[in-house]
Amino acid sequence: MNPPADLLLRNASVITLDQAKPTAAIVAIRGNRIMHVGREEEAESLVGAKTKIVDCAGKAVIPGFNDAHCHPLALAASLLSVDCGPTSVRSIRELQARIRQRAEQTPQGEWIRAKGYNEFYLAERRHPNRWDLDQASPDHPVKLSHRSGHACVLNTLALKLLGICKETAEPQGGIIERDLESGEPNGLLFEMNTYMERLMPPLSDEELERGMALANEEFLSHGITSLQDATWSDSAKRWQTLRRFKQRGELSPRLSVMIGTEDLEEFEGKGLLTKREPGATLRLGGVKIVLHTTTGQLTPPQEELNDLAYKVHQAGLQLALHVIEESEVEAAISALEHALLQTTKRDCRHRLEHCSVCPPHLVKRLKNIQAVVVTQPSFIYYSGERYVATVPSPEFNWLYPIGSLLGSGLRVAASSDSPVVPSNPFIGLYAAVTRTAETGQTLLPHESIPALKALEIYTLNSAYASFEEMVKGRLSPGYLADLAVVSADPTQVPPEELKDIEVLMTMVDGEIVWQR
Ligand SMILES: [Zn+2]
Repeated sequence: MNPPADLLLRNASVITLDQAKPTAAIVAIRGNRIMHVGREEEAESLVGAKTKIVDCAGKAVIPGFNDAHCHPLALAASLLSVDCGPTSVRSIRELQARIRQRAEQTPQGEWIRAKGYNEFYLAERRHPNRWDLDQASPDHPVKLSHRSGHACVLNTLALKLLGICKETAEPQGGIIERDLESGEPNGLLFEMNTYMERLMPPLSDEELERGMALANEEFLSHGITSLQDATWSDSAKRWQTLRRFKQRGELSPRLSVMIGTEDLEEFEGKGLLTKREPGATLRLGGVKIVLHTTTGQLTPPQEELNDLAYKVHQAGLQLALHVIEESEVEAAISALEHALLQTTKRDCRHRLEHCSVCPPHLVKRLKNIQAVVVTQPSFIYYSGERYVATVPSPEFNWLYPIGSLLGSGLRVAASSDSPVVPSNPFIGLYAAVTRTAETGQTLLPHESIPALKALEIYTLNSAYASFEEMVKGRLSPGYLADLAVVSADPTQVPPEELKDIEVLMTMVDGEIVWQR
């Protein structure tokens, strides 16, 4: 006779993602693990005097979502920032009004952070500049971040405080946009976030705590039980900060933290490179390298990239290469081929983050090296209209080809890249299944995938992407009790209703951490 369960979910429609037993009516939990998944008739035999029973009233139970690429600290900061995203502002004038309002409530001289603008959705169809921001707030330094996270606008006071002027030379890989005649910066900066964050005063501990409480609430209210932090800068400092949040119980989902190559030595010195135990509440993820072509050339250059990738691969670590454009995807594949060619085969699961434009010949090469693609289906929903209008053919035909990637046998994991777009995985499921943008356009409908597959890439495949599929991502005996009770079965509802599914309860480690 089994010992009784600590907690029993019954009267549920359980989607286990376990092929041996795909559906069930009850989930029995003991400690932080699932002990049994089965039929309603089995419930009585699992109940003891102390068993807590949750009647799910016929609702669906799914494995907790695993956001394979997001930025929790940036989300915490962003939830404190003035929201200038397309759903909040439609023009530069409205954007100015929002910043002006915040300035009125902020002590003079303190930084104002605003976020989420996208010039494509502004009536003026241009980036705001320093003078626009000066009109809204001349006495507070203002940093307005672009939705992509790769550009931002500073007002005049902010430029002055950060020492960015006519004479300032671009840091490597960055661009300071300038007035053509005077050479004076116009406030718009590309790929200079790290450069600036180092010069700007950091958020106070109290602010960060407030932001993290909001971020935690956001993750849990969406049934997200695991996060993979894909930030590459300030890894050591970030690790400490996140560890503090974890220790104080202020960030409930499990967390894998990626690090940048320049922090490898420090992590090694502190013995942190071994902190990779599957299922741990805080652990190390892959080593992130950002590739970009913003300046017209590949950064880092191919040879340098090959050396870096080889070094990380040789150290037995997982690579996570950030690539958007086709040329970047190709460069990443070449670097991985170069690294793999020189070593004996092992299960390395190197990752391509985003891999936004991926034509068939690159899909084939990816398959050969068995890379994992970490995609963001929600981008189709939130930016689909812009893609239709701005991405030229033939690139357009290879945009987020999730169906083709899965069809070729590749592992694809899903993520939000939050705070770039909201973290709600049901928007991601909707977009992966319908390929439909918020505005109604469809993008490459032949790349759509069934709802069950979409659920899998957000749970089981995300776990695979961090070497944790043996403990997370499905509801089976021995697996971690990380799950969500949701308002409707995503594999049964009409596709258009996927985005409206609500989370009713979220459980991490066998504990109910959130309830509607
Ligand atoms: Zn990202």
